[in-house]
Amino acid sequence: MINRMELRFPSGSVNESFARGAVSAFVLCLDPLVTDLNDLKTAVSEAVTNAIVHGYRDTIGTVYITAVIYADGTVQVKVRDRGCGIPDIEKAMEPLFTTGGEERAGLGFAVMQSFCDSVRVISKPQKGTTVTLTK
Ligand code: ATP
Ligand code: MG
Repeated sequence: MINRMELRFPSGSVNESFARGAVSAFVLCLDPLVTDLNDLKTAVSEAVTNAIVHGYRDTIGTVYITAVIYADGTVQVKVRDRGCGIPDIEKAMEPLFTTGGEERAGLGFAVMQSFCDSVRVISKPQKGTTVTLTK
């Protein structure tokens, strides 16, 4: 590990762009390709949006982000909420699956998976969800 940061903020939708910008600023020291940076920003934004709109569906809670830069240039970003959790992770990660109704496409996890090298999800109903993105 060569650098690390932690963030916590309330789950207002205004903080989605804050989180994306903060993670982007953190990894800029790696002098990333614009495409890689945009991929990471998009994935972080999907994970944070999920914490805000699904994890804390009917309430405002705290979203936690930890980002780590490793010596080989790998970046790992964890987005965590203490919200409602995901009852069936495998199903939730299927493209087009959504509990968000008409407004949602059900593509957030598919986007994270295509823009990152790995996406891991740990979740427990009523305890919350942690999404770990590695790029
Ligand atoms: P889109 O991302 O395209 O707007 P979506 O958010 O429904 O739609 P995904 O991001 O793929 O699609 O998430 C799929 C489903 O997984 C969600 O509809 C929701 O049921 C569940 N989910 C995802 N993240 C969380 C979370 N942090 N807490 C609780 N449920 C979640
Ligand atoms: Mg989503």
